[in-house]
Amino acid sequence: MTVLKAVRGTRDLLPPETELWNRVEATTRRVFARYNFGEIRTPIFEDTSLFARGVGEETDIVSKEMYTWEDGERFDRDLLRDKWLRENIARFESWSLDRTAAPKADFEGQQMDGSWEFVIFASQTTSSQLLSLADEVREWNAASGRFRGIGRIVIPTISEAAVVTTPEGILIEKVSGAFHKSSQSLTLRPENTAGVVRAYIEHKLGESGLLQKLFYIGPQFRRERPQKGRYRQFWQIGAEVIGPPSAGSESPLRDAEVLEMLASFLDELNITGWTLVLNSVGSATDRPKYVAALREALAPVKDQMSPDNQRRAETNPLRVLDSKDPADEAIIATLPKIADFLDDESKAHFAAVLAALDACGVQYEINPRLVRGLDYYTRTTFEFTHDGLGAQNALLGGGRYDGLSEMLGGPKAPGIGFAMGLDRLILTLQSAEAEPAPVLADAFIAPLGEALNAPALALARDLRRQGMRIELGDGAFRIRKSFEIGNKLARNIILLGEDEHASGILTVKNFATGEQTKIPRGDLAQALRSSGN
Ligand code: AMP
Repeated sequence: MTVLKAVRGTRDLLPPETELWNRVEATTRRVFARYNFGEIRTPIFEDTSLFARGVGEETDIVSKEMYTWEDGERFDRDLLRDKWLRENIARFESWSLDRTAAPKADFEGQQMDGSWEFVIFASQTTSSQLLSLADEVREWNAASGRFRGIGRIVIPTISEAAVVTTPEGILIEKVSGAFHKSSQSLTLRPENTAGVVRAYIEHKLGESGLLQKLFYIGPQFRRERPQKGRYRQFWQIGAEVIGPPSAGSESPLRDAEVLEMLASFLDELNITGWTLVLNSVGSATDRPKYVAALREALAPVKDQMSPDNQRRAETNPLRVLDSKDPADEAIIATLPKIADFLDDESKAHFAAVLAALDACGVQYEINPRLVRGLDYYTRTTFEFTHDGLGAQNALLGGGRYDGLSEMLGGPKAPGIGFAMGLDRLILTLQSAEAEPAPVLADAFIAPLGEALNAPALALARDLRRQGMRIELGDGAFRIRKSFEIGNKLARNIILLGEDEHASGILTVKNFATGEQTKIPRGDLAQALRSSGN
């Protein structure tokens, strides 16, 4: 039989390494508490549309890295798809595609090289099937040869949602209303900010009128190519400061406070050699202007770029700046800089963040190209990098997301947050420190004969209840074996024979000193405690 292993990109964390993980998590809780953050735990999976809307369709995360599945009853897709194609094919042929226009139609298509490319704007109600849609289009293409593939899927709020959406959406309503509800597209969370903002909206946290300061520690999932420091299940520590504008959520002081907290946190972990890299990507009105300028600058040169960047230049030019492709560096260096497109308010906001950081002595570098991989960022964006990490050098990333709550259908709730790669933090610590030593128990209890097993458990219970870390041997072991095992696992061995059991006076040997003493049962915990110091 083949031996099963952990899935590629996932891994087991074992002691003693987990001691280090616990220490980092304990430090997180201690430091964040000083800033008055409370913990939030959101579900590990969410409705797919949360990420499609919250993180952005064109991001790498949403377009190719999510673990998504259809949850619930299945239906005969082939039948529905054929019916849908027959009914709708004529409609594509009359539409033209305007790439720059805001979504205005439910469907737009364009004829290219005799085949069809089209864009689907799906309604919220059927967005749950969106992720499988791209695959379906590829399948239709294979079958009919008519489609080039899917360009984009957008989810505005469309009232005529029932007219055109996903194939399932349309036909399900015609075939049976029941199907529609029985299946939902779910996704393992690739990040946690969207989930936190969803929870903020769902629980009306804004109604308190106060800032919400929430942190989380938990696993995230992305189908990325695994390498050192990059996993498919990885852990993030993150925090969000979010609230109504009246609570001061837009203030640059919030940004600076979060950055200062991160600097203090890394200091507290004794992580040195980090660099805080900062930029402002401007407000929701600055960005379109900049994107238009980028598009214009990219138009004459994009053909010389890598295929990925050619695609990004069309679909989401900001992403080109994120590119790590060395061949495209020279072109990227000539592109316009966002700093020249910030309005006065965004400029003043950024200047105030920098001034507050200067005042508390937190050092930073400004990188005008730092736009980050997620669509929701506005104004301040940042990363902390660490040279010890190699290619995957980002320890953490974050920024302001003033429009995210509204993008998810919530109230205006500006916010700022970050997510830190816990796996990478651990790698940084491991390269700086010796492997943690296995933790030794305070004592190993050796029952001398099987008849003493039960009293040994009672003794162990007694000591554990007094806070002692106890290993329990077995009366079937010869005494020599008990000593051997005890020596590996504990600082002391307690011998429990008939005499000791009857008298309540136990024989304790300290492995380090070789000293053997007789200790009354009632004094054991105290004796073990002092021998540990
Ligand atoms: P992001 O949500 O992409 O801004 O990522 C925030 C942080 O999470 C990064 O700076 C990394 O430290 C960490 N991270 C992101 N993706 C991965 C991954 N696949 N494996 C390990 N850590 C990751």
